[in-house]
Amino acid sequence: MHSIDVLVVGAGLGGLAAALALKMAGHSVTIVDAAPEFSKAGAGIHVSPNASRLLRRWGVDIGGLRNTCDGFRFIRYADGKPIAWVPFDSTADADGARYHIVHRADLHGALLDAARKVGCTILTGKRVVDYDFSVPEARTVDGSTFGADLIVVADGMRSIARPLLTSAPDAPRDIGDVAYRITIPADKLQTDPELSALVRDPCVTFWCGPGAHMVGHPVRDGIEYNIMICARSRDSAPGLSWVVEGGNGELLDRFSRWEPRVQKLCGMADKFLKWRLCDVPDVPIWVHGSRRACLLGDACHPMLPYLAQGAAMAFEDAAVLKQCLASEKDLASALSLYEQTRMPRVNYMQEETREHQYVWHIEDGWRQALRDGQMAKNAAENPV
Ligand code: FAD
Repeated sequence: MHSIDVLVVGAGLGGLAAALALKMAGHSVTIVDAAPEFSKAGAGIHVSPNASRLLRRWGVDIGGLRNTCDGFRFIRYADGKPIAWVPFDSTADADGARYHIVHRADLHGALLDAARKVGCTILTGKRVVDYDFSVPEARTVDGSTFGADLIVVADGMRSIARPLLTSAPDAPRDIGDVAYRITIPADKLQTDPELSALVRDPCVTFWCGPGAHMVGHPVRDGIEYNIMICARSRDSAPGLSWVVEGGNGELLDRFSRWEPRVQKLCGMADKFLKWRLCDVPDVPIWVHGSRRACLLGDACHPMLPYLAQGAAMAFEDAAVLKQCLASEKDLASALSLYEQTRMPRVNYMQEETREHQYVWHIEDGWRQALRDGQMAKNAAENPV
């Protein structure tokens, strides 16, 4: 297809990737985002080879963030004994793409730099409040109107465009777990021999216990230790959407039966961010009937964090959308092909992810022993 004007709504990881891929393919791209400025907050994010390969293709330098990951260590939650070691071999991927763990703000910054460098127009403080997808155009809270040949909406899990596209009520559902994010300065861990080994270890440590799992790894070249926990909710706060800050008392209580390193890490977590994990049933329509607007990223497939694939799926969406525009002769067939290509892949990934809420949180007993035994066997038989 010839070059077109594209409006991308949302400059999150997905929106920036789409903007970058489309601009590099010769389209004219404007991005609008509601945020007045981009936050430097966040924590570690896994960039698996399916994602890092695309970033490299788009010239996004995350190698400079110096956080490749050598593998996963699965640990018995109760006594700290190793269950399985899954090494990542950089030569395993034909393109040499690696598994990285980077700070989310650094990844966002690298995408932003790359998008600016290729000439995308990026406008902040532009919250879209209304769409007319038949034109198509988007109206922002300050009364401006943005028109384009194609609108790509990447406005995240709480998308206002999704219900307009599907014409169906939109109901995120509470999945019964909360997520905690904790970042601890590495020097705190250095004073303890057991914990300093964790900071020096360029890999992910994974503890799975009853009703919760904890994932820990160094970020920013070992300056910080990042922890993500998903755990069964004990909160009675109403509503689906909240983020709270808390101190280590809650964590120490919750993980009092876990191995000493987990307890020490909980003790060092001066504060955490905690929020309710929500899911959206599979979204049946990603492309508006006018064939001039589509959804991308969390807006059409919010991904629970159990397999760390949400941003990776958004990057894949961006790559496929670009390819469909290049291979088809008109917008309508390009968007149909995009939807048909991406939907089965993403639905599969969402199903796998939902299943891992159960797998990572199995209660003590024979099922848990079976899971751990199977993980050890798979790791031994199938080196990555
Ligand atoms: P978002 O990042 O939500 O971006 C949406 C953007 O749209 C924002 O910038 C927002 O300001 C803007 N916006 C919203 N509404 C409007 C509006 N009306 N007008 C204009 N702008 C608007 N994924 C991985 O690949 N690896 C991981 O390790 C990983 N870990 C995770 C851990 C946790 C605990 C969670 C919750 C998620 C994790 N994910 C991970 C998922 C990943 O973070 C998301 O899938 C990804 O960030 C989605 O990107 P997005 O651009 O689609 O949406």
